Amino acid sequence: MKTPQLLNYAQDHWLPGDSELSEIASAIDGAPVAVTGSGGIDFAAMLRHGREVGGPALRKMTFHERARLLKALGLAIMARKEELYELNYQTGATRKDGWIDIEGGAGTLFSFSSKGRRELPDAHVLLDGALEPLSKSGTFVGQHIYTSLQGVALHINAFNFPVWGMLEKLAPALLAGMPAIVKPASATAYVAEAAFRVMIESGLVPPGAIQLIVGGIGDLFEYLTSQDVVGFTGSANTALKLRSHPNVLRESVKFVAEQDSLNASVLGPDAAPETPEFDLFVREIAIEMTVKAGQKCTAIRRALAPAEHMDALEGALRERLAKTKIGDPRDADTRMGALVSTAQRDDVREKIAVLEAAGARIVAGDPAAEPVKGGAFLSPVLLRADDPWACAAPHDVEPFGPVSTIMPYKDIEDAIALANRGRGSLVLSMFTHSTDAARDFVLGAGSFHGRMLIVDRDNHKESTGHGSPLPVLVHGGPGRAGGGEEMGGVRGVKHYMQRTAIQSSPTMIAAISSQYIPGAPKHVIDVHPFRRTMSELHIGDTWKTESRSVSIEDIEHFAHFTGDRFYAHMDEEAAKASPIFEGRVAHGYLVLSFAAGLFVDPDPGPVLANTGLENLRFLTPLYPGDSMRVELSVRAKSIKSQDTGQVRWAVEVFNQNDEMVATYDLLTENVP
Ligand code: NAP
Repeated sequence: MKTPQLLNYAQDHWLPGDSELSEIASAIDGAPVAVTGSGGIDFAAMLRHGREVGGPALRKMTFHERARLLKALGLAIMARKEELYELNYQTGATRKDGWIDIEGGAGTLFSFSSKGRRELPDAHVLLDGALEPLSKSGTFVGQHIYTSLQGVALHINAFNFPVWGMLEKLAPALLAGMPAIVKPASATAYVAEAAFRVMIESGLVPPGAIQLIVGGIGDLFEYLTSQDVVGFTGSANTALKLRSHPNVLRESVKFVAEQDSLNASVLGPDAAPETPEFDLFVREIAIEMTVKAGQKCTAIRRALAPAEHMDALEGALRERLAKTKIGDPRDADTRMGALVSTAQRDDVREKIAVLEAAGARIVAGDPAAEPVKGGAFLSPVLLRADDPWACAAPHDVEPFGPVSTIMPYKDIEDAIALANRGRGSLVLSMFTHSTDAARDFVLGAGSFHGRMLIVDRDNHKESTGHGSPLPVLVHGGPGRAGGGEEMGGVRGVKHYMQRTAIQSSPTMIAAISSQYIPGAPKHVIDVHPFRRTMSELHIGDTWKTESRSVSIEDIEHFAHFTGDRFYAHMDEEAAKASPIFEGRVAHGYLVLSFAAGLFVDPDPGPVLANTGLENLRFLTPLYPGDSMRVELSVRAKSIKSQDTGQVRWAVEVFNQNDEMVATYDLLTENVP
């Protein structure tokens, strides 16, 4: 049977490469799986198509529309996940490894979709921070905003997670309104191509929004501009080569790199053998060495333990690793499959030899052994370096496979210095039940690591694990780890947007951002806004209430009713003596309650429920005898589903002198 050829997806067409083809072999038995290549593809035209067709189509959509697209794409992947699992076995991955890649990838789309709908406006512009007053009377203000970059995101991915690696980059880029060109690593490009095909065949993706290169990227870097973003995952060497491309430097092309990382895990000084933390540490190291055959950028490469516990640690790990069932990844009882290729296995064997030459000795596993014949199988290899300061290699050389080195430390300062000797990592974990040790460690090592995980007997059952990057948390690390940051919820979306400081009037800024801004014109309405559906409400629509007085009896009644008898409300002398009040004042909560009493329209209708208050400030005290009134304005609206949406109202409470008493955002669940 002819080996299938993978196709590029350029300018909305599937195209085979016509030269520079290479064959990809199965990790299980070395048989050819696919032919790949991108010779003859016009990369400049792909970039133009992304910029001229994909970008405008995505930027027409609001954040919420793009968020719904992500959810639909995730569902499309889930509906055809079995096809992907089947292909993924050929990369050496077990079903569990595939679950992280395929369902973890779809889960990342779902997570960004829900973050997008909850934390971003149903608009095209994202506000950054609060309005900055720049003038006395408030006609000239400053506001930072984010708008979508107008170029293309070029995503160059590593081989180890062909689906998740693609989707964790696509999710924030598409949510930001930026089209992407995906270039998967060749070794597993057949899985990435299949997942990409699922998205295209769903018919959901706007033209030009995503394109695919299966093979080299030729002269593409020559055409990048400052509006493009390169998101790279792979080795430090390739990252260095690409980020120092003259055009990247000349054009200031944004370059986000996730590269190799000598992640450490630390056994706390308190965690002696027999403690739950010791057992959890052993378990985590064994998991990180064997899941995905250790081919994870976040795997534990260096395990640090108090010197006196090294023998116990070595013994426990040997015992545990000996139980790892290595075999055909399709078999249900296999715990560890194959490395991605024999070339990758050769590379890992070479790196183990470097570690040995530097003074580390193998204490479990045999790199020369072939636990299963015919494929790229390797047994887990544990090394021990008893002088971690003399032996530099474990802090510098990354064997990208089932390999880890255990090392002793003297005290917490020594452990911190050793952990930081990796010169920047993606993740560090610590197994300790001592809050003092955890605090000292984070203060001493935080700036060297992108993510830190502290595990103990109380949280381990729900811990997401050392090796799992999460869509809501940042993934990336300083220095050696690439100096980049991905995901992290909305933080990741902002990598694909430009922050601009806008200086103008509140009216202009409200128009630009499609949100009501304090000081912008209000449109006073005469039908109560609680009687209007969301489609009938407009940004800036304002309901002005009647005014009501607040008496000393009201304050007394509220105090006794709620039990809040704070001196400022109940003790005239003490209130007068305070540096803040001139006498007894109304409770802030009373102001809020009376405000609701003034603006609420009681009957069932389009407003279903009050779901929260945000940004509450009490600005002017309200004294007995004062009166108060409310202006309720539509600040922003977002549709959540066919049945519900959210309205954000600006609530401003004034006294009889038109001084602002309180201001806050009220959130309500509404009928769209
Ligand atoms: P690699 O050789 O650097 O390849 C990474 C990607 O770069 C692949 O798509 C590769 O394509 C592409 N590439 C290589 N040379 C290129 C060039 N001159 N121009 C354009 N693209 C080029 O890394 P790898 O060996 O596949 O991956 C393993 C490494 O990735 C490990 O060091 C691991 O730590 C790191 N990694 C890091 C993370 C993270 O998030 N930090 C995640 C996973 C892996 P081809 O395959 O077609 O050559």
